[in-house]
Amino acid sequence: MLNSRIEEYCINLKLKGILENYSFLADKAAKESLSFAEFLCLLLEAEYEARNQRAKQTMLKFAGFPKIKTIDTFDFSSSSVDKTLINEVLSMRFIDETKNILLIGPPGVGKTHLAVAIGYAATQKRIKTKFVTMADLIIQIDTALSQNRLEQYIKKSINFTGLLIIDEFGYFKLNEKQSNLLFQIVNKKYETGSILITTNLSFIRWKEIFNNDEGLTTAILDRLIHHSYIINIKGDSYRLRQKRKAGLIDFSSQEINS
Ligand code: ADP
Ligand code: MG
Repeated sequence: MLNSRIEEYCINLKLKGILENYSFLADKAAKESLSFAEFLCLLLEAEYEARNQRAKQTMLKFAGFPKIKTIDTFDFSSSSVDKTLINEVLSMRFIDETKNILLIGPPGVGKTHLAVAIGYAATQKRIKTKFVTMADLIIQIDTALSQNRLEQYIKKSINFTGLLIIDEFGYFKLNEKQSNLLFQIVNKKYETGSILITTNLSFIRWKEIFNNDEGLTTAILDRLIHHSYIINIKGDSYRLRQKRKAGLIDFSSQEINS
């Protein structure tokens, strides 16, 4: 009788954490002779923890990572990346400081792995994060534009995110309209949030992405680089190295498939 009243109140008040834990916590309180205040504190803690977990799950879903990668599985010993710098980034101070991150390097050196790991850590700190490849971003912008929803799209996916991750920046070239739209996005995010970009193109080649428009390229670079961590990753493809180690590829071979 009492239990069903408690459960009804919990359901009405949407207190799922208390609903799932009150019975166990009431037993614990009785066994350990806790005071009423201590018992209440345990109930509130359970509710807080449940809400915190749900919020993290929602953030993770919204982020849209292709596959979850965390920093625990990143092998720093076989990478030129500075672990201290990545730890600094993982503290998420760069978000408060609205700094950007640029991860630059050849294919297979772990740029996407690091981008997802940083993004994942952000969602666990309940920072609204969005992961897109540049190809997807352009498709999404084009679609929103053709449906007259560009402003809403920018608001929802760009402005309201604390961290926007654009993967594979420069893997293909943009036309004039797309270049201008991308500039708008970078400009909107500039100083109101952080952008993390992965690219295999060095800055001097960036104008190739933007229709050879030097003015626009400089404007985009200027906004991205001002207040940023620029992380250059050197070395061979990690996948290839693993295969070489396993003796699956001979060093003189030109094989690049993995
Ligand atoms: P990039 O985006 O630079 O092309 P990826 O991040 O996709 O490279 O890395 C290719 C594969 O190698 C992924 O499966 C990634 O998890 C793995 N990888 C790359 N570098 C490392 C590393 N230092 N430690 C562990 N795994 C790595
Ligand atoms: Mg990648």
